[in-house]
Amino acid sequence: MTIQFDPSMRPNRVDPNDRAQLAESPVSFKRVGQLFVPHWPALLLVTAIIVLSSIAGLGQPFLVRAVIDDALPNSNLPLLGWLTAAMVVIAAVTGVLGVWQTWLATSVGQKLMHTLRTNVFSHLQQQSVAFFKRTKTGEIQSRLIQDISGLQSVITSTATSIASNLTTVVATGFAMVVLNWQLSLLTLLVLPPAVWLTRRVALLRRDITSQRQRTLAEMQSQVEEALSINGAMLTHTLGMAQAREEQFSGISFSLIGLELRSQLAGRWRMATMGIAFAAIPALLYLAAGFPDLIGGISIGTLIAFSSLQVAIFRPIMGLLNIGASWISSMALLSRIFGYLDLPVEVPEPVRPAKLGAVHGAVEFSGVSYRFPDGETNALTDVNLKIGAGESVALVGETGSGKSTLANLVVRLADPTAGKVSLDGVDLRKIASADRTKIVGMVTQETYLAHASVAENLRMAKPGATDAELWAALETAQVDEVVRALPEGLETIVGARGHRFSGGERQRIAIARTLLANPQVLVLDEATSALDNDTERDLQAAIDALAEGRTTITIAHRLSTIRNADQIVVLDQGRIAEQGTHDELVAAGGKYAHLWGASD
Ligand code: ADP
Ligand code: MG
Repeated sequence: MTIQFDPSMRPNRVDPNDRAQLAESPVSFKRVGQLFVPHWPALLLVTAIIVLSSIAGLGQPFLVRAVIDDALPNSNLPLLGWLTAAMVVIAAVTGVLGVWQTWLATSVGQKLMHTLRTNVFSHLQQQSVAFFKRTKTGEIQSRLIQDISGLQSVITSTATSIASNLTTVVATGFAMVVLNWQLSLLTLLVLPPAVWLTRRVALLRRDITSQRQRTLAEMQSQVEEALSINGAMLTHTLGMAQAREEQFSGISFSLIGLELRSQLAGRWRMATMGIAFAAIPALLYLAAGFPDLIGGISIGTLIAFSSLQVAIFRPIMGLLNIGASWISSMALLSRIFGYLDLPVEVPEPVRPAKLGAVHGAVEFSGVSYRFPDGETNALTDVNLKIGAGESVALVGETGSGKSTLANLVVRLADPTAGKVSLDGVDLRKIASADRTKIVGMVTQETYLAHASVAENLRMAKPGATDAELWAALETAQVDEVVRALPEGLETIVGARGHRFSGGERQRIAIARTLLANPQVLVLDEATSALDNDTERDLQAAIDALAEGRTTITIAHRLSTIRNADQIVVLDQGRIAEQGTHDELVAAGGKYAHLWGASD
């Protein structure tokens, strides 16, 4: 007999990470059950198919016995024909049932995944900007793509393998007893040690293999680290070459032993299985030589029985894996539920306010803000009235809370205390679809999507004509740059697209904001990443943008905000001074000091 290796024979150990995950956030059966409830008819059908095909499969040994003991010795051709035909029919029926089962289980699995994927996606999209700042992008992607794909195997493998292995073991055991109870007792004696030995050797191999994998990964990361610009700089400037080489050679050497042990363990695994699969039937034949002990048995029974022994081996091995697969499945769900349970920091209003005519007045009333992980307030008791069409400049040292205040206006976060209102309506009561039309923002970093220039611009105004796009680009003084691009408006920009310079990106962002035409505009150091000349050029574009809107400007160059209607000086999150340029200079306080020091 040839020994094939199927996944159920691949042993699993419980991953300590999975155990830790479950200890930290356990998964309730009820919640898992609720996922499956809508699919109960399909699941019931799958279970029925599994039971049916296990039972049908059991017919084979009895047919074999009948062929050997009745049909062949008596040369009963009609019976032989029926029996062999039945063999083929049973195999065909169980085969087709298996296909149907896979189709059903996979479609349930895929539908579940689809539901979870879209739920997690939309829930994550509602997360605040702060969430994305503190979470690694890779982690989010892995949650969404890998963890949820992993669920497919939970449903198709774990669940169906429990069901099919269990029914096979029970049904096969039953058939063995029916065939010959004495031989069944004998099997009960020899099978467990054989299973145990096979599993131990296989686990050993698994451990060695995963250790080899870890070592390989470590070697890979060392290569990446050392043979990169970063590593080369360290090697050449700090004389790391010798140490790096020793480290690399050490890892490379340890791979020799690991590879050897891994190959040998692989051979050992095959060997133990070969021995087990030879020894069990051998013992059976030996036992058949003692009819006093086991009762006289026919050759047909002997052969049928030995095929059952082989048939029961795999499902037993499979059942031994269930504990580990179960835990890893639940850990997967626990991670996914964890994301679904994340609180939404900036929730949509349940009943959004109906906005009348928009003027663009902004008011801070008793606003304090503390970052979720902050020890002190980033803003404390800020009261500030900004009239419609007024220009306000925020001034203060780095870390004084200017950006925090600006972010509250575009509702990247909600105040911890107090409220920010727009034309008298609390921002929390305004639907985000309305707010994003009224309040616009240009920051130091510009965010362009990986799409064409035109598509990026039309994010702000979906129906905009090309003429409107060009007009906006012109006002932002970037039309010539775009015209010079190989594909003009259709050139792909963003993360992996055409590389604009910092100033060009800024201007595209400004053009986009112009198209959005918001009543309220927040400019957070929109020009500070640029060199002086570019900044001066851009200022004209920014002034064009600010024209006729309520503007809240954070400028790192005081000269640009001199004409603001109101200058607000922040100090450690509090408003320290407030007034026009002339008033504040005359007052001789903090602003006057900053002004004196600026160029
Ligand atoms: P500014 O824009 O005036 O330089 P910020 O508004 O960015 O200042 O920051 C105000 C305070 O909040 C600073 O003390 C800063 O360290 C803190 N802060 C800023 N961002 C975060 C964050 N994501 N988490 C925790 N604290 C933050
Ligand atoms: Mg800032």
